[in-house]
Amino acid sequence: MAGQALTAVLVALLVTVCLIGLWATYTLRSAYDREAQHRTRAEVQLTAYRLAARFTAGQFITEPLTPDWLPSGLTMAVGIYDHLGQRRTVVVRNDPTGELALPDNLDVANSDREETRYLHGVWVLTVPLHKADGERLGHLHLLARHRQAQLSGVVLRVAYELPLWLVMGAAGLWLARSVFLSGRSSARSYANRPASVEFVMAGYQEVIDRLQSAGRELERLRTDAEHRALVQTEFSDRLIASIPDALVVVDEHGTTVLANLTAQRLFGRPPGIPFREFFADVPDLQNLVAAGLQDGSVRRQSDITVLIGGHQRTLEASVAPIPGAASVLCLIANITELAALRATAQARETLTSLGDMAAGIAHEFKNSLATMDGYARLLMQDVPDNPAARALRDEVRHLTQVVSDFLTFARPLRPVMAPVDLAGVVEEVVTLLREDFRRREVTLVLPESLPVIPGDAALLRRAFENLFRNALEAIPDDAPVREVRLRAITGPEDVTLLLEDSGTGFPPEVAANLFLPFFTTKKQGHGLGLAIVRKIIVSHNGRIEACNLPAGGAQFRISLPLRIGVEK
Ligand code: ADP
Repeated sequence: MAGQALTAVLVALLVTVCLIGLWATYTLRSAYDREAQHRTRAEVQLTAYRLAARFTAGQFITEPLTPDWLPSGLTMAVGIYDHLGQRRTVVVRNDPTGELALPDNLDVANSDREETRYLHGVWVLTVPLHKADGERLGHLHLLARHRQAQLSGVVLRVAYELPLWLVMGAAGLWLARSVFLSGRSSARSYANRPASVEFVMAGYQEVIDRLQSAGRELERLRTDAEHRALVQTEFSDRLIASIPDALVVVDEHGTTVLANLTAQRLFGRPPGIPFREFFADVPDLQNLVAAGLQDGSVRRQSDITVLIGGHQRTLEASVAPIPGAASVLCLIANITELAALRATAQARETLTSLGDMAAGIAHEFKNSLATMDGYARLLMQDVPDNPAARALRDEVRHLTQVVSDFLTFARPLRPVMAPVDLAGVVEEVVTLLREDFRRREVTLVLPESLPVIPGDAALLRRAFENLFRNALEAIPDDAPVREVRLRAITGPEDVTLLLEDSGTGFPPEVAANLFLPFFTTKKQGHGLGLAIVRKIIVSHNGRIEACNLPAGGAQFRISLPLRIGVEK
């Protein structure tokens, strides 16, 4: 700031010095010019008088003027005119270029008066000529220009004034610009900014910085926008890919512009082809899409049965227009499994009603059997050792058991859930079958502890009785190892009970039908035992599986949840 002020002061001083110099030059020059003018005038007048004197003395005609007679530094032309003002002769001319033009005639109205004029740097003198006796002869007309004064003036201007003007002009411009910039910056309240080139540079720098920062911001926004677009594209791609249903977009020209992987797999064709080609195997879908493209309405169709790739498929499709685009979106769900489940449920419903009917009939059977048993007992009262009556009673008892089991199997099971100590259930079953185990010399191995589970104690007891009885019956009389073993593996969610025997195990054809009602390989069996066991276990949200042991014998694996609500 101080440097700026000092520079300004120095420049102002320079301007002042220049101004003084110029003023001095002008003053001196005008004084010099005036003095030169006076001197020239005197010289010119003197020359004119001398010439006039010589002319009047009649000398000039015979004696031509010599150059040294003329004043140095003057260019001159002198002419003699008669009393009418007509030029007679030119007595002297020392301007080779002829710049001083002598007129051919003079206005001699004021013929007796001497006249001196200074016109555009040229002295013009008219002097009347008289003889000694006073007779007028004519006029002498003289034109003179000072050569040296003109040259010195030019030299002075070029060598001295012009540089001064240039210096002063440059300094003045610099000062004016500084004042203008400082005035402008103060008007903008940037009082502290330097009113200088640095300030201008700083201003430019600031503008450049702002432009650069705006550029960077724009770049950042562009990158952000690109990133967002990328993320959104990836997200929508993932979204489309994750849709489990087939998704197809058809544009207004009927081209499948988009088809997710499920759609490509289901219809076995890539996108980018006409929709009629894409849905070549499904005429119903073609019609649906065509109608959607035509009127832009939402359409749905369920249970579209088609043969795709040799497989029977059931599809459910919806076609809807995409807002803002002349395209339609088709969502096609493969409901083959659902349709199968629906069919199964329907069949189950039919079977249930059939089962209800059968249960009703079985109930009637049971009543009739009870009546028959009553009559057989009466017969035995009359004839105590009547073998026919005994056989009748045995058969009635067997049939009653079958009907009772069938009723258990056929009726819907509704277990009454309560905490059940499995150890207690197993203990009761073992107590019931102890005599049979003893009689058949089969060893029973039980786990040290069993958990308490939610369940129906009576139903569970019935299931385990069936399983233990089957295991006992599966061991032939001549089997070298005679053992039935129960093991328990308690996990965090459930308990797995493994009932193993050293019996015959079962061949594959038996294994496939174990749990089917009325499937039996026994002479006296009715094949409802395992069907009822599975129904009881399933009603407890459990699971039952059977397999042969590598060492021989069968293994039944029963899993039961430890808490209510946990499904197996
Ligand atoms: P039933 O005992 O009246 O035959 P089940 O439904 O209880 O009816 O049994 C069906 C069939 O499963 C039996 O006839 C038998 O062939 C087979 N089976 C059941 N348990 C065993 C087992 N522990 N070992 C071998 N086979 C078995």
